[in-house]
Amino acid sequence: MPPLAQLLDTLEAFHGEQTPGWPVDPYLFLVWWHCGYPASDAACAKGWQSLQSRIGVEPDRLLAANPAKLALALQPGGMVPELRAMRLQGIAERVQKEFGGDLRAGLNGMSLAQVRAALKKFPNIADPGADRILLFGGISPVAAVPSNCPHVLVRIRIGRELENYGRTYSEAQRIIAAEVPATLDARSRAYLLLKQHGQQLCKRTNPKCGACPVAADCAFVAGKMRGRPAPVK
Ligand code: SF4
Repeated sequence: MPPLAQLLDTLEAFHGEQTPGWPVDPYLFLVWWHCGYPASDAACAKGWQSLQSRIGVEPDRLLAANPAKLALALQPGGMVPELRAMRLQGIAERVQKEFGGDLRAGLNGMSLAQVRAALKKFPNIADPGADRILLFGGISPVAAVPSNCPHVLVRIRIGRELENYGRTYSEAQRIIAAEVPATLDARSRAYLLLKQHGQQLCKRTNPKCGACPVAADCAFVAGKMRGRPAPVK
């Protein structure tokens, strides 16, 4: 089994260099994340573009907006725009009151545990979302795993997803922590390549192993050839 560094080089040669398709500033990421539902890069990007052009994304703009107009601006991002509008105003209010209008600056001086706890108080932010903000916001090189495809690394190394999402996520995180240098650049690169691979080829159902550049080194493929049971779904 080649080291993860080699697998990531192979994925990068195949998919190309990746860059985040979302705002990396912690506050702006929270806004972007609520611009789409169900949240996906495409849905959030649509809502974000609409919000930026119709209302603006700064806390004072969100707080001053009429809730119905805010919901209308969020409609291109998908379902429950009224609920997302309400949550966005809640986020903006908290950033104004607790962080002086600048979340990134307000998090400075906190321990990693305090930052994580503060981020998880925002709606729809659990550990995977907090990890993503910590890493891409340049706060800490945590071993973040793309929340929609933690199975990629686990399939490659173990051959199948574990029995539930939490265990699969933890195992992927353990592999990254053990094998990817603890720098912002290295861990961001790993995150983006695994995300791209999970979206393009290593889909949760029906992975396209026949087109995969790491198939020869993937335990999932080896297990299938030996007749191992299908992965847990
Ligand atoms: S060979 Fe299949 S299971 Fe393994 S990484 Fe590629 S797509 Fe995923």
